[in-house]
Amino acid sequence: MKKLLTFLGLALVVLATLLVVRTWLHQPDARDTAKLIEIALDEQAIAERLGEAIRYRTLSNQNVDDLDAEAFEGFIEWVAQTYPSVQENLSLARFGYTLLYRWQGRDPSLQPVLLTGHYDVVPVIPGTESKWQVAPFAGEIKDGIVWGRGALDDKSGVIGILEAVTFLLDQGAQPERTVYLSFGHDEEVGGSRGAGAVTQHLRDQGIQLAWSLDEGSFLFDGLFPGVEPLMAPINVAEKGSLTLDVVALAAGGHSSMPPSTTAVGKLAKAVTKLESNPVPGGLSGLSGAMFEEISRHMPFGQRLLFANSWLFSGILDSVLSQVTFANAMLRTTTAPTMLSGSVKTNVLPIEAIATVNFRIHPRDSVESVTAYVSDLLASDDIEIRPRGGVNASAVSSWESDGFTAIQKSLGEVHGDVVSMPGLMIAGSDSKHYGQVADDAYRFNPFTVTQADLTGFHGTNEKISVNNLANGVRAYIRILVNGAGAS
Ligand SMILES: [Zn+2]
Repeated sequence: MKKLLTFLGLALVVLATLLVVRTWLHQPDARDTAKLIEIALDEQAIAERLGEAIRYRTLSNQNVDDLDAEAFEGFIEWVAQTYPSVQENLSLARFGYTLLYRWQGRDPSLQPVLLTGHYDVVPVIPGTESKWQVAPFAGEIKDGIVWGRGALDDKSGVIGILEAVTFLLDQGAQPERTVYLSFGHDEEVGGSRGAGAVTQHLRDQGIQLAWSLDEGSFLFDGLFPGVEPLMAPINVAEKGSLTLDVVALAAGGHSSMPPSTTAVGKLAKAVTKLESNPVPGGLSGLSGAMFEEISRHMPFGQRLLFANSWLFSGILDSVLSQVTFANAMLRTTTAPTMLSGSVKTNVLPIEAIATVNFRIHPRDSVESVTAYVSDLLASDDIEIRPRGGVNASAVSSWESDGFTAIQKSLGEVHGDVVSMPGLMIAGSDSKHYGQVADDAYRFNPFTVTQADLTGFHGTNEKISVNNLANGVRAYIRILVNGAGAS
């Protein structure tokens, strides 16, 4: 007995030592802290130009054809007037209201690259105008901050790229690789007329890009509790989407004489079952690579869990799944969005329908998620009717020259920044561009905090003057490091 206790005690000590040692080893890799590179810019003037851009109401509405042509033409004319060096030195092709600029490289044998953003914006939800501290289309600068719709999504991206190219042109620079710039007009409604047409054009010309850089995630400041440096998940893939109708069947009849279980009751049970049985996921593949890097910067307690995921993967999975943002990174998500039943108060429905939207993780597919749901809800009274879907994008490399160039550039502007591969949980124009690029990256080189997140498609969208300028600096360095502009 005593021997056994001694043995158990010893085993515990060994285990504890192992856990602590592994945690201690789970530290940031020695990074070459990039040499900071100073770039002098007139930050206020750049901010004022973003303000001007915000004043064009280039809205994408649910109906693609419902757009204010004058606003879009006005914006295009404004770009030509405001960025004359771009206009003079780059060639321009138009696809509807989407602009494609081409900056000839010195070495035509190298694969071209693409920097892209979109200048359409989502409408301000009627009734929320008064919640804005500054009118959403005034393009005002107040207390060092540019306010307005598009300040983050994504006129800052468009202006950032135009400013960076202008800066380099004014220094007499030319890129080694040919650089394409595209500015989409319909990203918020799927992008098929803009980015889709540009992609088709590039394909017709036989052009395969080395890499593309589109909007996506940001430099996150304080989004992960206890993590000091800026975290930059450079998105290397975007999720797919699938919508299924879950249909509960019943005999129907008069509501005065209902059966013990109605179609609505069956549907409610099915939806509950779906929600309590999320599509399996976890810290593997891309999701694992992202948290592997972030966790190295976490406080000891959290690092202990990640460093010993062989033991704690169950705990980690359940903790991360409680956090909506992390959960969306780990798995295909399940979101019931619409319900329908009978059309009359006293008629029992013969069909009760829940429409459920799934955002597909790259490890799953339209087929595998449909099969998972069909198996889970298998019953004579439940039918699954697909409403269409699209798989996740291909996963781009995070060891390529393009990724390294973006990573290096962020370090040169910000110093202490940690980048890692990330997963885009919403959609972007890169679902198109990715078809003609070896690697498609989705990242805006601007910094956002937790508080900024509500600005996306919401109220009080804004960016500080300095944050905007640092984004321009990053785009300049990306053109230097990634396309050899000099
Ligand atoms: Zn966007």
